[in-house]
Amino acid sequence: MSNLFLVPAVDRRARENFERTVRRPVRLRDLDPLGPGQRRLARAAHGGVRAWGTKAGKKDINVSTWSAMAHGDRALFYFDGLFPVSARVLARERSEEVAERLWGEEGGDTWEYMYLLDEVRQVEIPRLALFACIGYKPTAYTRGFTRVDRDLEATFGSVEQLLEQLSDQGHQLRLAVEAAKAGDQMEAATALDQLDMQLSEDQLRSEINAFASAEKPATRKRLVEQFQRNRKLVAKLKKLYGGKCQYCGFTFLQGNGRPYCEAAHLKPMARREANIDVKDNIFILCPNHHKMLDYGDLRIELDSKRHLMGIAGGKAKRMTNKHIDP
Ligand SMILES: [Zn+2]
Repeated sequence: MSNLFLVPAVDRRARENFERTVRRPVRLRDLDPLGPGQRRLARAAHGGVRAWGTKAGKKDINVSTWSAMAHGDRALFYFDGLFPVSARVLARERSEEVAERLWGEEGGDTWEYMYLLDEVRQVEIPRLALFACIGYKPTAYTRGFTRVDRDLEATFGSVEQLLEQLSDQGHQLRLAVEAAKAGDQMEAATALDQLDMQLSEDQLRSEINAFASAEKPATRKRLVEQFQRNRKLVAKLKKLYGGKCQYCGFTFLQGNGRPYCEAAHLKPMARREANIDVKDNIFILCPNHHKMLDYGDLRIELDSKRHLMGIAGGKAKRMTNKHIDP
């Protein structure tokens, strides 16, 4: 079972070190004092070996966290309000000598609890989206080096799968910010549509601020408003259809007594072909038909009489439609 470690690299020194030995590979000869097993893994690293380390910390707080690290674990770096980069843990070894070579020292101390990394990826994971998945409170702060104390494999299949899912959310948020910046409200709305974050307005604002820290306040404000509008519309449509799939009518009652359904959207290309406006681009579907829509087995379009049609397996079927004007 692999574990997930959160690694803040917030202060100036940490950021410089990050750029030098995580963003870029380290020289193998700098790792010479390490054990043969560690050096062998370093030589075989995908895309060049990277390195990071921690100090023991007050009351050696970081040492037990570091001791729990094993080959195949993931480190998720935190700075600028989000988790921009993930990497795979190859090996760990305590080495004052190598740590000093790589990062120097600070107040007579160095980052000697070292670990080697590879598979460094730009993931751009929103902070609160991650916290929601790992059971942290939204008000929690990424203070120190921590191991996520939760069985992520049981819930998400694997740590990699969790990171992939979260990185998709980050990608949508990035697309939305870029579209809003370019003044393309329609694309911004579509990108935000794909996000399904159960966040309060304040939390959402902090997430958008982290992704759009370089943007004008007006751009950020527009994004938050757009997101809130989408969310209200989804709630309204779920109610309008009583939670029933517009294609097949299926629903089921959840433990909380509410009917279950999902809000689905057409991709921009499909939307143009189907003649459906962005303002109408939300459909209430059961989970099966939602997935069929996403994977292309179900097509939704308006026919010449503006009837809403669902087309699957070559057969067209008229869908329940209470929200798209004839
Ligand atoms: Zn259905």
